[in-house]
Amino acid sequence: MPGFEIFGAEERKQVNDVLETGVLMRYGFDGMRNNQWKAKEFETEFAKKMGSEYCQLVSSGTAALTVALASAGIGAGDEVIMPTFTFVATFESILALGAVPILVDIDDTLTLNPKAVEAAITSKTKCVMPVHMCGSMADLDALKAICVDHNLILLEDACQALGGTYKGKSLGSYGDLGCFSFDYVKTITCGEGGAVVTNNEKFAKHADHYQDHGHDHIGGDRGAEGHPFIGYNFRISELNAAVGLAQLKKLDDILKTQKRNYALFREALETIDGVTFRRVPEGGVENYSFLNFFLPTEELAVKAHKALSAQGVDACFYWYTNNWHYIKGWSHLKDMKSLGRLSSEVRNQMQDLNSTDFSKSDAVLGRTISALVKIGWTEAQVKERAEKMRNAIASVL
Ligand SMILES: *Cc1c(COP(=O)(O)O)cnc(C)c1O
Repeated sequence: MPGFEIFGAEERKQVNDVLETGVLMRYGFDGMRNNQWKAKEFETEFAKKMGSEYCQLVSSGTAALTVALASAGIGAGDEVIMPTFTFVATFESILALGAVPILVDIDDTLTLNPKAVEAAITSKTKCVMPVHMCGSMADLDALKAICVDHNLILLEDACQALGGTYKGKSLGSYGDLGCFSFDYVKTITCGEGGAVVTNNEKFAKHADHYQDHGHDHIGGDRGAEGHPFIGYNFRISELNAAVGLAQLKKLDDILKTQKRNYALFREALETIDGVTFRRVPEGGVENYSFLNFFLPTEELAVKAHKALSAQGVDACFYWYTNNWHYIKGWSHLKDMKSLGRLSSEVRNQMQDLNSTDFSKSDAVLGRTISALVKIGWTEAQVKERAEKMRNAIASVL
C-alpha cells in the first residue's frame, strides 16, 4: 500500500517549487507565490481522477471525515451507523461533532453488513458510513438502496481503498460524500493529508468554508471575506499538498505493482485447502493493497499468524486481537473515556458497547489475516515471500 516507498526526485521537485516562493499557505499571497497553487492543483487533478465534481483537500483523513459529516449538516444527537472493524478515526470524527456512533456488525466482505445497518436505523439516524477496509469495498448498491429508502447520507470512508472501483466508479465517488487519507502509510501520501470528494455542490461549498474557519473565499482580500457559518481549521499546507501532487502522478503505477504482487500471493495461497478469501461484492475491483484471507477457525488463524511471524513474514495482520482496528481493542470507547464530559446526546444515545453482541463480527474477524502488499519488493522477493507464506500457513492445517 505505501506510496512512501517510492518517495523521490518528483516529490522533492514539487516541494522545492513551494520552498522557492516561501508561500507555505494555500490561500492568498498571490503576488509572492509565483503562480504556485499546489493544493488547488491537487484538488483539480484528484477530482478528475476520482470522477467526482468536487474535491476538498484537508489536513488528514480524520479531518476529511469530520469535514464531510459537518458539510452534510450532521451534528449533536444525529446517529451515524459505522462498522465494528475500522480505524478509530471513524468514531473520533463522529464524536467530534457531538453526533452518536452506532456500531453494527461486519460480514465476510469485512465491511458493513447491510442487514445489520437496516436493523440499526432509528428516527435519529442521519448517515451510514461504510469503511472500505484493507483495499476492498462494502456492498454499495445495497447500502445506497437503504439510504435512499430512509433518506440518509451515504458517506464512504475510502481511506484504505484508493484506486479500487465499484461498478466502474472509483471508491469514494459512489456515495453522497467520500473521504481519503494521505497519511504517511496510505496508498499515496502527503506526509499528512486527506480529501473529501462529492458531486453535491452545496456539500462542496460547505466543505470549502468549514475547513477554513467558515471563510467564504469570495473576493481577493482574505481579511474582508464573509463567514456564513462557524467553521474550524482543517487546512492543508502547500508543502504537504506538493508531496501529494507528485505522489498522485505515481498512483497508476502504484496500483499496477500492487495488483501484480497481490496476484502472486493469491496464487500461492489458493493452493492451500482450508484457506478462503474475503468476499468482494459483485462489480467490485479491489485496489490490491492487502490480501485478506480466512482460516477455517479462530484457533487456526492464531496459529497461522504465529507461523507467518516465525517464518519471518512481516506485515501480516491479525486484527482481531493484535491491532487497534477492531472493537475488541477500543476499551476507551467502550468505557467512554474522554478528557472532558461528552455531550448528553452521546451519553444518552450510545449503545452500551460492553454488553452489545458482536458475535457475528467476531466470527468473521477471528478467522481473518490480512497480508500487506508493498510496492518496493522485486518480483523475485514477492515470489520468495509467497512461498514462505504458503509453507507457514500449510504447516498449521
Ligand atoms: C488512515 C485512516 C483514516 C484516518 O486518516 P488520517 O489521515 O490518519 O487521519 C480514516 N479511516 C481509515 C479507514 C483509515 O485507514
